[in-house]
Amino acid sequence: MEKREVFGENTRENIYHCIKCGLCIAHCPVYKEILLEEATPRGKVQLSRHLSEGNLELSEEVKEAFFSTCLLCGSCVANCPSGVHGDHLFSGVRWRAAQRYGIDWKKKVMFQLLASRWMMSTSAWFGKWARAMFGGPWIESKLNAGALNVERIPPFNDKPFAESVPEVVKPGGKAKARILYFHGCATNYLFGAIGLAVVDVLKKMGVEVIIPKDQSCCGLPIFMSGERDTSLRCIRDTLKLFAREDVDAVVVDCATCGAALKNEYSHLLCDLRQLGEQVTDEEIRAAELLAGKLKDVTVFIDEHKEWLPKMKENGNKIRVTYHDPCHLVKGQKISAQPRNVLKAIPGVEYVELPGANDCCGGGGSFQVEHADTSRKITKRKVDNIQETGAQVLATCCPGCNLTISNHLDPAIKVLHPVQLLQKVLNG
Ligand code: SF4
Ligand code: SF4
Repeated sequence: MEKREVFGENTRENIYHCIKCGLCIAHCPVYKEILLEEATPRGKVQLSRHLSEGNLELSEEVKEAFFSTCLLCGSCVANCPSGVHGDHLFSGVRWRAAQRYGIDWKKKVMFQLLASRWMMSTSAWFGKWARAMFGGPWIESKLNAGALNVERIPPFNDKPFAESVPEVVKPGGKAKARILYFHGCATNYLFGAIGLAVVDVLKKMGVEVIIPKDQSCCGLPIFMSGERDTSLRCIRDTLKLFAREDVDAVVVDCATCGAALKNEYSHLLCDLRQLGEQVTDEEIRAAELLAGKLKDVTVFIDEHKEWLPKMKENGNKIRVTYHDPCHLVKGQKISAQPRNVLKAIPGVEYVELPGANDCCGGGGSFQVEHADTSRKITKRKVDNIQETGAQVLATCCPGCNLTISNHLDPAIKVLHPVQLLQKVLNG
């Protein structure tokens, strides 16, 4: 059988750390629902090993195991005592599968749109127009995109967030820090209110915020689906704009973008170079520089909480709980800081969510393509949220927001912690 290299050396070596202990299994959200060995992280690590050693053909059936039984949530990675990076292995196999079998044309179109700011802005405008012309509550309530009900998908922003704010936002007086803000696609096209809250809060803290106009997708959703060539374009564009020595931090409001910029860029570039791609030392150094500056916005705020203006209690109490996005808690080990920000807000009655760090079931396109499994995972999350009696679910990932709010009792608002902070700062 032909032996074809599936992984770069640093990823391939990691396969042999698996001692088949199975400790990852109980943490896999997909396995909990379908209870099959090929759905376990351990099973997929062993499949990866056989593929890498050339003992197994990358058949359609094997390919399916890597797409239909994995959200790339990283729960297995976070709970592996041997440090096995299932996420790197599984996305590597997806890449080879995409090269062999191609990618569904709808996804291909979507990725080309995401990789081009101009095309994405035009499509968002067209989507908004089409929804206004041909949509309407009755039609939309009958339409589903996999597990998502179309009526409950948020409308596109009136205009992209990047066009609603100046490129440089200066505070009154001398800036205490100068930061770059990577807002990602979800804020730019769907959740503009989150972006406005980030800029408003940081400005009130005395921070100069630079929002580069030409930024595009972080590339993570694209390379998780195996389309590495397109994601490489996004990575290179992002490095050109954000790998800068002259700023104190690069801030993100999205857990997925944060995981990409902090963890994945340098790993992926090294992997691709080991596989013969033209990746330069300068690009790898730029990725490392960016990773060193990257902070989730809640981490930045928590580190500089003394810069926040004094907040007054207005007598209103609001019960708030928090969902840990996988790409934040497992990908970046951040769980305390968003909670600290929430607990510091006067009037917030914080209640911990049972299973707060369990995956929400979204997984990007997973919820569209594997609706039944996704719906079951989301149901566990939504039931837990509703049992807390919270009026607000806070989370730091627009993707989780989209998934959870689609299934949750509409009386419970889903907000970014910074949106709650902004409301109180503005009285
Ligand atoms: S991936 Fe890690 S946790 Fe899972 S079986 Fe292998 S060593 Fe154990
Ligand atoms: S990444 Fe998540 S869904 Fe995929 S195997 Fe690991 S735990 Fe399961």
